[in-house]
Amino acid sequence: MKSNYIDHIGIAVKSLDESIPIYEKLLGSKCYAIETVADQFVKTAFFQVGQTKIELLESTDSDGPIGSFIEKRGEGIHHIAFAVDNTNDALNNAKANGFKLIDRVSRKGAEGMNIGFLNPKKTKGVLVEFCSK
Ligand code: ZN
Repeated sequence: MKSNYIDHIGIAVKSLDESIPIYEKLLGSKCYAIETVADQFVKTAFFQVGQTKIELLESTDSDGPIGSFIEKRGEGIHHIAFAVDNTNDALNNAKANGFKLIDRVSRKGAEGMNIGFLNPKKTKGVLVEFCSK
């Protein structure tokens, strides 16, 4: 399963209100979407950078994945998402190649994408997401 391009880079932040103006200045573009993903306990803000997006992630619950990430490691890069043709195929293929899955099957993420994560233990500490339309 080939990864087509980097769809987005997820960055964990404490506050979207504080972080959005910083990234608008940095990237020279406006945040084009803010969306809450209830089952992940996150509020997301998106910026377009060419074909790739920057996804700022603010926790809506300190026990959620972003809340505990920030508690342990502070703000910063949380995951890299690769665009694939089919997320379930990519997850199955990764499993067959010895990677550990967090998600056995894809689920719905922000922007209606089908997403699935790999366990960072087998990817040199990087949380990898596959996503497809
Ligand atoms: Zn993501």
